[in-house]
Amino acid sequence: MDHDLNRLRRAAAADPADAALAARLDRALLRGGAQAEVMKRYHSAYVRPVGFDELAGPDPLERRCGCGRGVRYQPSAAQALATLARGECAAVAREALPQLLVAMAASGQLSSHTGPRRACLRASELPYVDLLTREVPFEVIDLLPANFATTYRALPVERRGRRVLVALAKQSPTVLEDLGFMLDLEFEQVLADPTTVDALIEAYYPAGFGEDLAEMICTA
Ligand SMILES: [Zn+2]
Repeated sequence: MDHDLNRLRRAAAADPADAALAARLDRALLRGGAQAEVMKRYHSAYVRPVGFDELAGPDPLERRCGCGRGVRYQPSAAQALATLARGECAAVAREALPQLLVAMAASGQLSSHTGPRRACLRASELPYVDLLTREVPFEVIDLLPANFATTYRALPVERRGRRVLVALAKQSPTVLEDLGFMLDLEFEQVLADPTTVDALIEAYYPAGFGEDLAEMICTA
């Protein structure tokens, strides 16, 4: 058994782009209880050194991967696995990586080969917030004036002392710094579905309310 395993290891090392060979080695390692070695193989085949948060892109959950494709953030390991199985690049929270690598190895849909066009996996350090189930208190909403929320498409979701966690509907390299400078608080980004962020901004900050109020005060 060990002899066979070593022969497979050598063959896979000699031809790391051979997907069928890699899949055979992955299965043999899992059968032999060498789970840590399988995780390591999947990690080096899929996980890219540059994290999701460092990438630019059109919206907070969809960035340009660097491999020529897009990479989309997946809130769960199951969704990330399905994305990778379709051959698309995926990102997950860094703490979800170990669980995902186990699922990838066990799925039988992927293998740890390093052939061309294999999907990428990128880790994110930012927390993900499901805004459909999370209630945002009004005193947190009030931390951002309406014109700031609508201009920057930013929704505050939680306050921790001087730090305010904010969800963005549109990714911008300077928005956190700009808000921090103008409002004298520290803004930190959380990831959330941009469509929901926009809908909640519209719901929480009625259009024109600030301006009407200013006009009323001025003409009173
Ligand atoms: Zn990629």
